[in-house]
Amino acid sequence: MLSIWEKNSFINFDIIIIGSGILGLSTAISIKEIDPDKDVLILERGTLPSGASTKNAGFACFGSLTEIIADCGRVGESATAELVEKRWKGIGMLRHRLGDEAIGLLNYGGYELIAGSHLHCTDKIDAVNRLLKSIFSDDAFSKADSFIDKFGFSRNFAKSLVFSKYESQIDTGKMMRSLLKKAQSLGVVIVNNFDAIIEDAASDRLTVASKTSPVRFTSTAIISCSNAFTSFILPGIDIRPGRGQVVATSPVRGLRFKGVFHIEEGYYYFRNFGDRVILGGGRNLDFKSEETHSFGNTGKVLDKLNSLLREVIIPGEEFEIECAWSGIMGFNESKLPLVAEAGENIFAGFCCNGMGVALASYTGKELAETALKNF
Ligand SMILES: Cc1cc2nc3c(=O)[nH]c(=O)nc-3n(C[C@H](O)[C@H](O)[C@H](O)COP(=O)(O)OP(=O)(O)OC[C@H]3O[C@@H](n4cnc5c(N)ncnc54)[C@H](O)[C@@H]3O)c2cc1C
Repeated sequence: MLSIWEKNSFINFDIIIIGSGILGLSTAISIKEIDPDKDVLILERGTLPSGASTKNAGFACFGSLTEIIADCGRVGESATAELVEKRWKGIGMLRHRLGDEAIGLLNYGGYELIAGSHLHCTDKIDAVNRLLKSIFSDDAFSKADSFIDKFGFSRNFAKSLVFSKYESQIDTGKMMRSLLKKAQSLGVVIVNNFDAIIEDAASDRLTVASKTSPVRFTSTAIISCSNAFTSFILPGIDIRPGRGQVVATSPVRGLRFKGVFHIEEGYYYFRNFGDRVILGGGRNLDFKSEETHSFGNTGKVLDKLNSLLREVIIPGEEFEIECAWSGIMGFNESKLPLVAEAGENIFAGFCCNGMGVALASYTGKELAETALKNF
């Protein structure tokens, strides 16, 4: 049984957010920035945030050349430009909100290794720069082929290298700690190890329960920021899971490059982290197996990542793979962030695919504004 103190101070809130990933925390911070008096609770099922936000590669990026060209083919030029703009604005908001030092932001730029299969995309650099002209003050992309040898990449693989000065890297751990600290400093309450279920709304108070806890929280509004796991809470929302596998090497003596790097429409990505290399990707090797809510690494993907390191990225260098992990992303068809009303005073936010670092601050603000309209 709850004490009178618990009933008075721990159970009833104005808004409950489900999920303490980048989007849940950003939404909570935006709500407090708009209305400091709103009492906000975040419920998180993991001991740590347990989706994508503490698992990602820490690219502050907006889309590589080949990815943007592929997106134009899939969703059209204006939707692609809109998406790039949201990512770019979102990065700006994150930097402004937390400060570059607090997120470990380093601006070494971004590059894409262009394999023979995608070499035709370099003919479209001017056209893509024109498409993105209103977003960036200068050309987004330029060729930087001379850096292929300087960085030590395999010439057998990299036929061209495309540079963008607008991309940076962050320290994902620092960013998440800073977001948690910011939310808590604004008075947001965070409860971990609570696998939330929305109960049927029987009154004007909404109730969130859990199969593993006797405690039930109530609120006027609920916002789901549970990303790939949203369909377990709100079955009407169509978000597919996609597992991302990542490896980090031991320190590589005299590592020759710094920056964030993309390969093959973003299906592979790597960066330096000090003198280590962090490399992820490979979902496209087996989309069906990787469409899963289960964390884990597979031999197929790890073998591919290992061979990319040894044959393309740091050929001839001595290193071990020191750490391997995975995170679960959420995907939708349009790649555009979603802010949806999923019931009376129940909202869902979703910042999409593999770019939440960039999109969450912006989407969180939209979500906060939408939910607060009803108060
Ligand atoms: C391997 C990998 C690399 C990536 N690299 C980059 C990158 O370099 N740059 C970039 O911009 N993006 C990257 N991303 C994508 C980015 O990490 C995500 O888009 C972003 O983290 C999504 O944030 P989110 O808050 O929406 O979701 P999540 O971080 O998935 O958070 C959802 C939270 O909800 C919780 N939850 C779910 N169900 C419940 C429930 N019933 N009750 C309570 N809590 C619940 C989960 O435990 C989780 O903590 C990468 C993702 C992965 C997996």
